[in-house]
Amino acid sequence: MELRKCAVIGAGTMGAGIAAHMANAGAEVVLLDLDAEVASRAVERQVKVGGFMLPGFADRVRTGSTRTDMALLADADWIVEAVAERLEIKRALFAEIARFRKPGSVLSSNTSTIPLRELVEGMNPALARDVLIAHFFNPPRQMRLLELVSGPRTDPGTVARLSRFIDVALGKSIVACNDTPGFIANRIGCFWLAAGLGEALRLGIDVETADAAMGKPFGLPRTGIFGLYDLIGIDLMPGLIRSLQANLPTEDAIQAYDAEPARVTAMLERGLTGRKGGGGFYRMAAGRGGREVLDLSGGEYRDPRPAPVLEGEPRRLMAGTDLAARYAWAVMSRTLAYAASLVPEIADRPDQVDEAMRLGYGWTYGPFELIDRIGAEWLAGRLAEDGQPVPALLQAASAGGFYRVADGAREVLAPRESGAVHARLEPAEGVIALPALRLTRQPVWSSEAASLWDLDDGVGLFAFHTKLNVFTPPLIDAVQQVAAVVPRYFDALVAGNDGPVFSAGADLKTMLALSEGNDRAGLEAFLLAGQRAFDALACAPFPVVGAVGALAVGGGCEFLLHAHRVVAHAEARIGLVEAQVGLVPGWGGVAAWLARHQAAGLEAGEAASATLRAVVRGVTWPGAFPAQEARLLRPDDRIVMNADRLIADARAVALALRPGFRPPAAPDLHLPPRAVLDGVVDDLTSFLAPHDRVIARALAGILSGDGRPVSASDLTARVTECFLDLALTEPTRARMRQMIATGKPLRN
Ligand code: NAD
Repeated sequence: MELRKCAVIGAGTMGAGIAAHMANAGAEVVLLDLDAEVASRAVERQVKVGGFMLPGFADRVRTGSTRTDMALLADADWIVEAVAERLEIKRALFAEIARFRKPGSVLSSNTSTIPLRELVEGMNPALARDVLIAHFFNPPRQMRLLELVSGPRTDPGTVARLSRFIDVALGKSIVACNDTPGFIANRIGCFWLAAGLGEALRLGIDVETADAAMGKPFGLPRTGIFGLYDLIGIDLMPGLIRSLQANLPTEDAIQAYDAEPARVTAMLERGLTGRKGGGGFYRMAAGRGGREVLDLSGGEYRDPRPAPVLEGEPRRLMAGTDLAARYAWAVMSRTLAYAASLVPEIADRPDQVDEAMRLGYGWTYGPFELIDRIGAEWLAGRLAEDGQPVPALLQAASAGGFYRVADGAREVLAPRESGAVHARLEPAEGVIALPALRLTRQPVWSSEAASLWDLDDGVGLFAFHTKLNVFTPPLIDAVQQVAAVVPRYFDALVAGNDGPVFSAGADLKTMLALSEGNDRAGLEAFLLAGQRAFDALACAPFPVVGAVGALAVGGGCEFLLHAHRVVAHAEARIGLVEAQVGLVPGWGGVAAWLARHQAAGLEAGEAASATLRAVVRGVTWPGAFPAQEARLLRPDDRIVMNADRLIADARAVALALRPGFRPPAAPDLHLPPRAVLDGVVDDLTSFLAPHDRVIARALAGILSGDGRPVSASDLTARVTECFLDLALTEPTRARMRQMIATGKPLRN
């Protein structure tokens, strides 16, 4: 890692979060504020709010004061300025930093609104070449977007070095922006929010109908307009919009909206600032749906009305005539046209805008992807009918839309001096994206439940595609088949995906149906088929690398425990959660976890106790680092920060394992006497639900022995009997039913 030492100045909301995330990346961090106390309290707060991926990472942050500790900047490779949003404060600080920093260190500002050219105006050229804007979103650990602005004076080498670190070590998706006010996401996002509020007041629509119209039909977050105002803080929005209005020309479309309508002023006078202020457009209440809604005309709270169910294609909604439809048209036609009018001013190509809105505002589709869904020609026609300007880029898209696949590559319509043309979208170096593979290649093998893709150089990618990637009988079958098919094409395998779910485990519906039919033989067949399939991969003569981008629980986690190596995204949530549905891990997970504890040097009693405790609690570990601490990941499994690089990184690991690969033999297991585990069960009893106690006692029996070593397969055979006994009990059925119906565990 080239930028190993980092510093952040300003320990507020953003600076503290950025410092914590730098520590997550393994950097040594210095965090300074005017007062050293402020900085150290900010670190404590980050531990509480989960800014650190492990609480212990806080030790990587050293705090201090800008008054006395500027010398700590001397060996920083990257210094981030995250102080108050005032030009003169930032400029004075830069001058101060220049006195202490080492030559060639990168200096970035986290400003949301001040252009880079103003920050570097009159600046010494030796400093200006190292200065750029790296704009994080809140909270810095979670938000994927980073907007990067460099200027004519910035050294391209500096941009490249910082970009690599932000991408690989911090895991952010960098969107290069032009040096314009609000960059991309806030420029369009603030317009959308201002239009959403302004049009609602003009049309007299109520808050819940407005949010329903924005949310589902357009693939926007459920918070819609008003829920998002509440989340950001109603007091902050007028300042943001005013700042954009002050910095943008008079003909910019955002000038049409009032930064602070009278209704908002009245709310702020009553302290109604949103969620943090105890109420905003919505407030928590004992009423229907647990909340009340502000009446936009009268300003009082009332019970929510049943919001209309608005589904289907966005165009159908926009074409309608009722109030929700007119609102959707008014807000989204203007927002989409605004976005189209801003390329190439704010970004060179539409896909950069789409990415910024997806990652910065949580939109499922960016504005140009939405236009493609709605139909560019239809939108342009309706805008013209409506008397609204039709941007040239939108007009140009009328013929064939913004995105297309041509010659096996994705292309986007981008403006050029000679007119808009479709340009190839090259994946970033070192990135393999499954959605792009699906668009541009054919799998070498596939079934209804999974497919096998060629990642070149003899490496295959095994991707599941059942709902939530659960292990249904066809997916189990696919695992078994793939173990046999792979050697025909490949000599190394990556299994997984870069999407939101690796696998939610064994298919509960299959198991519940068998249980309700009292079909012990059917359940056993299901269990044994899974064990055989996972073993087939574990014993395969080629390396299998699990690539887990997000959720891997239950059987999904057991699959990973059978892989020869795992590459996990740092935010992946992993766990053996079977106890939550009244079961024990039936596909070898218990033996594998016990073996991991023993491999880490725990003696028999400690290892079995740790396994018992964790299996009974059914924990999903909140990230790959905690999962590694819990030994569900091995010390040599890899944790990566950038989910986009997951498949490519897993491919590299598979290639590295390939020379001379032999599947490792399963180690013998050592089990303690029953009395040791009875002690653990007694300790646990007071905070376990009744059925958990049944599970705990059963596990204690399985995990205890007479001193002779036991093979993993013998232990798994014992687990199988226990699993079948539990699966046929009523409390387990009740747990499965509730999990299927609500996604929440039942504590019976
Ligand atoms: P904040 O008010 O929470 O924190 C600013 C911190 O800087 C305070 O702790 C303050 O004591 C300290 N400070 C002020 N002047 C200083 C100086 N001269 N030297 C050292 N410390 C000083 O602000 P924030 O929300 O964290 O925003 C910081 C920057 O990030 C601003 O430029 C803002 O525009 C930008 N930003 C904010 C958000 C957000 O959601 N809050 C998002 C992206 C970018």
